[in-house]
Amino acid sequence: MPTATTDTTLKSLLIDELRDIYHAERQLVRALPKLAKAATSPDLREALESHLAETEQQVSRVEQAFELLNESAKTKTCAGMMGIVEEGSELIKESDKGAALDAGIIAGAQRAEHYEMAAYGSLMAWARALGHDDVAELLSESLEEEKAADKKLTELAEAGLNDAAASASESDDDAEEVGDEDEDEDKPRSKRQAPMAAGGNGNGRGKASRTRGGRR
Ligand code: FE
Ligand code: ZN
Ligand code: FE
Repeated sequence: MPTATTDTTLKSLLIDELRDIYHAERQLVRALPKLAKAATSPDLREALESHLAETEQQVSRVEQAFELLNESAKTKTCAGMMGIVEEGSELIKESDKGAALDAGIIAGAQRAEHYEMAAYGSLMAWARALGHDDVAELLSESLEEEKAADKKLTELAEAGLNDAAASASESDDDAEEVGDEDEDEDKPRSKRQAPMAAGGNGNGRGKASRTRGGRR
């Protein structure tokens, strides 16, 4: 996110946040293949790979937006996406492959999609307010792709949760809570972690819960 100061104009905010999403998209071009490689479900792998192709298009749309605004295409470190990508890498490092890791990968990918949707929503509104309908139109194409990717991930999550719960119930008696959406806020994540830790080495659990727990 840009840091707004009192003399920040909407135009400079737009450029600043375009540079931020430019960096975020480029990080995802590097991260998505790693997520795809760690995925077990062929459908999930395919979804991540096809979103990689879209993400490459999104990078070039941001470049076109800079061009339309007569600005050079520069990145500005997107710390938000960096954190999301880092959490995904940690999860993969700490987990065995399988249905539960797939659920975690989907959750991480959806965090990325929601972050991007929020960014594109603001960018579009600012571009439109500044009379740059051409830029708004470009960004809207990317926004629609992010929404569709998010929706696809939700479908895959719903389809995969039964597998994750089934394999977890063999070793973990909390498994029936995996799919419970009405749990209080910090429960689903810790429950999701438990089957993974149980299936992996003893270290996974402590590390994972320390990392996740610190962010709540
Ligand atoms: Fe994107
Ligand atoms: Zn950012
Ligand atoms: Fe995306």
